[in-house]
Amino acid sequence: MDARATVDSMLRADLRGRTAYGAPQLDVAVALNTNENSYPVPDVVVEAMTRAVEVAARGLNRYPDREFTALRGDLAAYLSRSGTPVTTEQVWAGNGSNEVLLHLLQAFGGPGRTALGFTPAYSMHPIITTTTGTAWVDGMRGVAGAGAFDLDAASAVGQVRQLRPDVVFLCSPNNPTGTALDLDTVVAVHDAAEHALVVVDEAYAEFARPGTPSALTLLADRPRLVVTRTMSKAFALAGGRLGYLAADPALVDALRLVRMPYHLSTPTQAVARAALAHADLMLDTVDVVKDQRDRIVTELARMGLDPVPSDANFVLFGGLADSHVTWQALLDRGVLVRDVGIPHYLRVTAGTPEETTAFLDALAALVPTHAGAAP
Ligand SMILES: *Cc1c(COP(=O)(O)O)cnc(C)c1O
Repeated sequence: MDARATVDSMLRADLRGRTAYGAPQLDVAVALNTNENSYPVPDVVVEAMTRAVEVAARGLNRYPDREFTALRGDLAAYLSRSGTPVTTEQVWAGNGSNEVLLHLLQAFGGPGRTALGFTPAYSMHPIITTTTGTAWVDGMRGVAGAGAFDLDAASAVGQVRQLRPDVVFLCSPNNPTGTALDLDTVVAVHDAAEHALVVVDEAYAEFARPGTPSALTLLADRPRLVVTRTMSKAFALAGGRLGYLAADPALVDALRLVRMPYHLSTPTQAVARAALAHADLMLDTVDVVKDQRDRIVTELARMGLDPVPSDANFVLFGGLADSHVTWQALLDRGVLVRDVGIPHYLRVTAGTPEETTAFLDALAALVPTHAGAAP
């Protein structure tokens, strides 16, 4: 018996035949496929991180602060800048918001329980859900026609009432479609969900267009509501692996039951705190990225393609005859974008002005032969 077959015979039945999450990590000139911030960490912050890690290194014989209290305080202060006060006790963090989502599913999902998400949305939501033995149900986002990717509030409420899930995922701004949810929809889903945990994944909140409020403003007196955030996108710290959430202190307390002790290493805490101490500098590139995002929307429409309006650092665009053929042709020109599995659509991250130009030039050369019927 070969090793693969032996392993398969031991593997949980529900994991057999699955493929792992796999955005290609290819070595290309212009990588616009995972919504990272293209700008490197500024020198001043690199120096602050280096000093912080040097100090921390001497103490690595000891376990880190299990409660990462100083970091939670910094994250609370950062969130409070939005105008909604958030306390240290309301904040939880993990190695990326993916780990924070895992903690939520470990605590509030599990065998016999069900999570509902409205797809297309973040592909890790169903993966994390099923990893914990929680059943996943693909809800529908919208209605056909204009704004087909918008989440229709009445439809979402109906699906929640019918399924009675234990966990509901909302994603705002939504990956991969790019648009943010209005808070009325969040409240309607929350109220319809009655006993369920409602997770609003706000990984891209800092990129939202003006006048887009955060679900942070809804947290008071809603102990079933959670808002997750990450330092991977606007904060340009994807390699630092730091995601976090804000919720009622009682909910945060419950997450201690499932996290591994000392899950946030001393260097991780030190690096994240150094970044937060320079929040303005770390967020300096957000406006540049938003300008490039808006430029992509404008230019793709001018090319006759079908870009979806975006509150994030990426744009989903349709109007391609065969999205995989276009994906490959762009890659052949040194530009890596994301095939998110929606026929006729691709997703591109807004990068530097130069990267955006490279993408737009490559695509403009392809459009005469690649544009095709919208679905
Ligand atoms: C990128 C992304 C995340 C972030 O994951 P990290 O683990 O924090 O890097 C979370 N949610 C959505 C919707 C994302 O697109």
